Amino acid sequence: MDNGAMISVVIPVYNEEANIPSLMERLRPVMKGMKRRYEIVFVDDGSWDNSLPILKDLTAEPEVRVVELTKNYGQHAAIFSGFSIVRGDIIITLDADLQNPPEEIPRLIRAMEEGEYDVVGTIRKERKDSVFRTFPSRLINIVARKITGIHMTDWGCMLRAYRRSIVEHMSECREQATFIPALAVYFAKHVTEIEVAHEERHAGESHYSLRKLINLQFDLVSSFSDFPLKLIMYTGLGMAFLGVSFAVMLGIARLVYGAAWAAEGVFTLFAALFAFVGFQFFALGVMGEYIGRIYKEVRKRPEYVIDKIYSSDSNGGSR
Ligand code: UDP
Ligand code: MG
Repeated sequence: MDNGAMISVVIPVYNEEANIPSLMERLRPVMKGMKRRYEIVFVDDGSWDNSLPILKDLTAEPEVRVVELTKNYGQHAAIFSGFSIVRGDIIITLDADLQNPPEEIPRLIRAMEEGEYDVVGTIRKERKDSVFRTFPSRLINIVARKITGIHMTDWGCMLRAYRRSIVEHMSECREQATFIPALAVYFAKHVTEIEVAHEERHAGESHYSLRKLINLQFDLVSSFSDFPLKLIMYTGLGMAFLGVSFAVMLGIARLVYGAAWAAEGVFTLFAALFAFVGFQFFALGVMGEYIGRIYKEVRKRPEYVIDKIYSSDSNGGSR
């Protein structure tokens, strides 16, 4: 059965009790079918439903290990904690909600080995999400590509394959807020993307609200570029130029049309002023975002804290 590289699958779980059994039912035959050594690492990201007991029961299988985090740290931190214990040569990340069909894993592995790639990304064919979820993502894909200079067609799909060396490089980055697929591409020499099927969430609802999505995108942008800061600078410069031109124009008009006309121009002035004030607040906000992230970095809090690790040889005991 020992045939080629060992495969690790890392799955973050946050309140997915309704999905785990069906996920395992589909994942298990896929992994066994590849006739290789494999392991499945579930990370319980502070679920408060029945996910953890269900996962613990799964550790009766020698291939399954479960990392229990002390609280909810977010999807990417959860994946990182899984990365810290993986043993495989090829590491696959997968969502627990069955939106990424586990049946695509052998294709990812094949693509990786045939092309000797370091990272195999994925593009979701016919994405099965609501417009409210796909439209922001599409926008994000375009913006992220432009800003970071990292080419990836689809940033969001987590069903991806990484070589061990890439995972190690990523784990060495002790950044607080980061975005795994982008970080992987940053380190990789040979990257490819393949199309994979996408399904509707099996049960439950997406954990990403619009606010969380925006935050994640800012993580992505701010950890790879200072473009937003530059954008502000240039916009500020442009506005200052416009402001001065406007003042000159008003001055000339005052001379030409007299004081009565100029008094009526007061409202134009207000309009211009409001535009500037608005822009200043916006600029402050963007800088605040960066400063907030710098603050988080300097605090150097661990990105996640592992409470316990469960596996078949530790069953019964707590570790
Ligand atoms: N997830 C997590 N921690 C969180 C949010 C999500 O571990 O704080 C997991 C979740 O259980 C799922 C995956 O990350 O396995 C993707 O989450 P979700 O399906 O909610 O995101 P979407 O598919 O809408 O991007
Ligand atoms: Mg999902």
